[in-house]
Amino acid sequence: MITVPMDKAFIIYLMIWLITISILWVRKLWRDNAHDWNPNKSRLFRCDKCHYAFIHKESISISRCPRCNSICVFRKRRRF
Ligand SMILES: [Zn+2]
Repeated sequence: MITVPMDKAFIIYLMIWLITISILWVRKLWRDNAHDWNPNKSRLFRCDKCHYAFIHKESISISRCPRCNSICVFRKRRRF
């Protein structure tokens, strides 16, 4: 049987925790970048046919409604 002194076992225990936390941190950073949402580039569309509101990530002016598949046109609001 392998005998490990207590001080080395504690260091191994800490290293395993540090590696686990590092892996989880890198995974969180990767997921945040993969699901990044920039509200400046996205646009809110509202379907005229079914009144369904949805957000498109890219700044396009024409999209299809995910509910009824009709064409939706992005309209800029007037500022007073
Ligand atoms: Zn619709």
